[in-house]
Amino acid sequence: MSVWKDRASWPEVIHTYDPAVRRSYNEGKQLPKWREEYGVCFLFCEQYLSRNLQVPPHKRRGFNELFVGKKYLDAGYDALWACRRGECKTCFQKAGELLGDRTAEQFLISEKDGRPPDVLLFDTHTGRFRFVECKSRNEQFTPKQVPKFTEIENYLVVPDQVKS
Ligand SMILES: [Zn+2]
Repeated sequence: MSVWKDRASWPEVIHTYDPAVRRSYNEGKQLPKWREEYGVCFLFCEQYLSRNLQVPPHKRRGFNELFVGKKYLDAGYDALWACRRGECKTCFQKAGELLGDRTAEQFLISEKDGRPPDVLLFDTHTGRFRFVECKSRNEQFTPKQVPKFTEIENYLVVPDQVKS
């Protein structure tokens, strides 16, 4: 039996949010609250957020990643979303540590043929991880994402797990 996954088998979880939270995020009020609430963690990485001009109060990006990432923090995990090279050195290093080898790290360096999924979720105690892609309702995968995600998944599957 093979555990190679196809897109149809990727688990999907739907989270809903209060529109007032989204409005508050867009107005730049929500992010400082979240940062205060969660304190030191990779998801709300100080080093990254303090100089990221794409998130509030500058622009409005990051809501999906942070909202979903926060759900995992609530469940006792941590999450990286700024772990591609050039985004945040500390987060990139942590991702390399989780992925464990240079080849895997290439997924976070090369944007050729698409970017890796939005969030790298991990268990701080065991180092077990999974990638999570965050989409808004009705938002589809881009043409490059399915082959890219499949490539990453196939690479990361440990051969022993493939045997039935
Ligand atoms: Zn960081």
